[in-house]
Amino acid sequence: MTGPLIKTELPGPKARAIIERDTRHVSPSYTRSYPFVMERGAGAMVEDVDGNRFLDCAAGIAVTSTGHAHPDVVAAVTEQASRFLHMSGTDFYYEPQVKLAEELAALSTMKEPVRCFFGNSGAEANEAAIKLARHYTERQYFIAFLGAFHGRTMGAVTLTASRAIQRRGFGPVMPGVYHAPYAYCYRCPVKLRPDTCQAECLDFIENSILVHLVSPDEVAGVIVEPIQGEGGYLVPPQQFHDRLRALTRQHGILLIVDEVQSGMGRTGKMLASEHYGLVPDVMTLAKGIASGLPLGVALAHADIMNWPPGAHASTFGGNPVSCAAALATIKLLKDTLVENARLVGDYLLDGLKALAERHRLVGDVRGKGLMIGVELVRDRETKERATSERDEVVGACFRRGLLVLGAGANALRFAPPLVLSKPQADVAVRILDQALTEVERAR
Ligand code: PLP
Repeated sequence: MTGPLIKTELPGPKARAIIERDTRHVSPSYTRSYPFVMERGAGAMVEDVDGNRFLDCAAGIAVTSTGHAHPDVVAAVTEQASRFLHMSGTDFYYEPQVKLAEELAALSTMKEPVRCFFGNSGAEANEAAIKLARHYTERQYFIAFLGAFHGRTMGAVTLTASRAIQRRGFGPVMPGVYHAPYAYCYRCPVKLRPDTCQAECLDFIENSILVHLVSPDEVAGVIVEPIQGEGGYLVPPQQFHDRLRALTRQHGILLIVDEVQSGMGRTGKMLASEHYGLVPDVMTLAKGIASGLPLGVALAHADIMNWPPGAHASTFGGNPVSCAAALATIKLLKDTLVENARLVGDYLLDGLKALAERHRLVGDVRGKGLMIGVELVRDRETKERATSERDEVVGACFRRGLLVLGAGANALRFAPPLVLSKPQADVAVRILDQALTEVERAR
């Protein structure tokens, strides 16, 4: 599969038939932005059931880190599957889980010895982090950030503050969670200039939450995405993480760093925390960790992850096939793909920034590695959010053979498999250029 190739109307006849069946029997709570029905994939290319080919800059929501069906991952999965599929690491032992825990402990930025709890998703990893923080600190409260996404289970969704629909009808959610403004520098919540910023957005935690709402000695944890994902691919300044780390340390609050979307090579380093020299107390991983197989992990120093047998577990968590996929994924990331994400990410970022010069809709282009957000605005002065235009651009990209997703109210996100090549980055920029032209002309 080389470049994009659209042969039928979209959706094509086979895709239409499958979507019709889906409508009858699959939960309507899923958010499908456009009608892509997958048949197969290789690297950064995917083909739909009607034989149309697309360049994938969505990667199953930042998951297929090594590309679709990487032969090394497929071989590791097949080899493990032929020996045993499941034995439950909560009740028995198997080496792939131990080996993966050793690998993850070594690549984490935390001080050894580090221990791993295995679940099946990002939400489960964060759910484990919540329980662990309460258990270890014997405190109850949490602080999270506006715009954050940490998952949709009842605990995780309480930390999430992304879109009201994700909470509507489900309340009351977990008590004792407060939200503070994130470092959304393009729309600075405290209206600062970047050159004088001292991360004053964190004043809200220090001077409001910890003064008016909760005593610091009752806060178990602060959870933060090093680069905010669903919120719009927001890259905070160094001082934001420095100050947050100092503040949490001062009060004995655990700093939980959610690397579910930003981790596993996506930002051009194994972990986004590394860009900041950020050392968490608890870290969570999922998404790109096993190239698409379900796996979520909460990691912490052994002194913190010191809960007794029976305190927390999951039947499928750390499934041996997922562990084998993760081990193969980590090897590929270390060998070439983290570096590729850095190189091709810089190249793609430059290409997307150049589009801002030609398209009035583009307000901001930001990111690290292959985690890049393009925020669309109706007016560069007022920064009025171009939400419907963003949705139209996503649709126009799809019709031309490029899969991208939205992030936040009005940003596009580029989160391709980390195998993306420079010629493929050129294709992505060219198609976005055409899509922006189409939407701008129609207005
Ligand atoms: N944390 C972050 C930063 C995420 O981006 C996501 C999903 O988008 C999650 C947690 C939840 O992961 P999952 O959908 O696997 O539960």
